[in-house]
Amino acid sequence: MTRKCSLRTAIEMLLSACCMAAAMQSAAAQPPELILHHGKIATVDKQFSIAEAVAIRGERIVAVGKNDEVLATKGDATKLVDLGGKLILPGLIDSHVHPSSAAMHEFDHPIPEMESMADVLAYIKSRAAALPEGSWINVRQIFITRLKEQRYPTKAELDAAAPKHPVVFSTGPDSMLNTLALKESGIDKDYQVSGPGLVDKDPATGEPTGLLRSVSAKSKSSGKSATGEQRLARLEELLRDYNSVGLTTVADRDCSPGTINDYQRLREAGRLSVRMRISHGVDAGGRLDSIQKTIHEIAKHPLRKDDPRLQIVGIKCYLDGGMLTGSAYMRQPWGLSDIYLIRDPAYRGVLKIEPEKLNAIVKTTVESGLQFTAHSVGDGAVHTLLDAYEETNKTTPVRPTRPCITHCNFMSLEAIEQMQRLGVVADIQPAWLYLDARTLTAQFGNDRLRYFQPLKTIFEHRVIAGGGSDHMQKIGSLRSINPYNPFLAMWVTITRQAKWFEGQLHPEEALSREQAIRFYTANNAYIVFLDDQVGSLEAGKLADLVVLDRDLLTCKLDDIKDAQVVATYLGGKQVFPQP
Ligand SMILES: [Zn+2]
Repeated sequence: MTRKCSLRTAIEMLLSACCMAAAMQSAAAQPPELILHHGKIATVDKQFSIAEAVAIRGERIVAVGKNDEVLATKGDATKLVDLGGKLILPGLIDSHVHPSSAAMHEFDHPIPEMESMADVLAYIKSRAAALPEGSWINVRQIFITRLKEQRYPTKAELDAAAPKHPVVFSTGPDSMLNTLALKESGIDKDYQVSGPGLVDKDPATGEPTGLLRSVSAKSKSSGKSATGEQRLARLEELLRDYNSVGLTTVADRDCSPGTINDYQRLREAGRLSVRMRISHGVDAGGRLDSIQKTIHEIAKHPLRKDDPRLQIVGIKCYLDGGMLTGSAYMRQPWGLSDIYLIRDPAYRGVLKIEPEKLNAIVKTTVESGLQFTAHSVGDGAVHTLLDAYEETNKTTPVRPTRPCITHCNFMSLEAIEQMQRLGVVADIQPAWLYLDARTLTAQFGNDRLRYFQPLKTIFEHRVIAGGGSDHMQKIGSLRSINPYNPFLAMWVTITRQAKWFEGQLHPEEALSREQAIRFYTANNAYIVFLDDQVGSLEAGKLADLVVLDRDLLTCKLDDIKDAQVVATYLGGKQVFPQP
């Protein structure tokens, strides 16, 4: 009986295998709709092989290889594009963006670039002139590390610029308030912080200095509000701009239900011009049982089903503060600082989730089959999160959920070894090295930055890390905060050079050109659970690809950052320039 059954099963399997092979053969026999030929095609497969031509039918690649082989498959209706030797890469992937808030950032009024204290104060003055007395002036994400003066504005400077308006100058999770903003937020010398974070007070008088670390002011928006369609239109404009720099997939790393709804509407209307991967934002500040309930609900969301265009991959929390602001959670004290206004020699930054609570949140997330990631900038936060992954891994293997660390700027060799052992991945922001190395070196010194974005060591340990911009404001790949131009980012990973900074920051951690390309393609595809669909140019995969004006593998090093996109294809359709 058993033997009969297994024989029958074997015959059925053989038959179905034959059918599949026949179907594949007949599919392969249908000519492609498009062949791009006489190019240099960096396939970014395991061997990083270079091909000459690629054939596409429908959404997918049907052949990659030599010109004559691929051109031999052409039919009467096949469109041919002669690349004239140009480089093709797989569609680029940014594993960390915040598109919805970034798209709306300048909806009310254009916001100038601010590089100095004078720029900041002039902008605040201009807003005070434009807004009725008493309305809030919110200056968001102007990082003190990137200002020429490398410091916060003082409360007195904010008072002088706008004496009759409450002003919040925020730099990541930390901020400086003027007198009116402190008053309206109810923050005075008796104010006590509940939970993590702190209100800085003058040691002599006990009065608040205006500096808040990971504590929010009670500010109100003074900007005009947008209709749903206006919001969608700006979001669409931004996604098109992503296409213009070769991006075909992005990961929204803190998505709200409202934004998920917007993505669904764009998708239904055929206006979602990138593949969107979603880390659902989860506020870790509340009660554990309600956080766990939220995680279970996210795991049951309809967008959890496999869909390469729009899918929830996991959740995101915030574990520490920022290195651009003075609140990243470090293993060693930050050290006294005029830049960051640190007066306590033992101060190590702000850890926002207690380790025990973090363990429980990570365990629930892993057991729900979701990817967990947390904003973890300092090495103290990185190790705290790794310990949580280690703890969960004792009962449930974490590797299948591709547990992630977001930012992980300050690392250690032990952290990298632990990531390798557990299967932990990372989304890392090269633009921060470019914009912040000057100030970080001034604060920490060169030695403490030895494992700052240690990409080469990460690659050597076969830990999967991918590049992300943490784009949060403005449309435009170089004017945005943070800049989302992937060619600038690749150049940073290869040169480790930085703005207003002499030399290179630990050049022993520089990537090769091939690795830098992998960082924005195949590695990110793995991180966002699309490695079987995109990230390399191989037969059967989705035809996401980008044609460049120069050869990133051979051009002058400094030309890499200025690369221009000639065309971007998403699932075989040209999305840039728009046909
Ligand atoms: Zn972010």
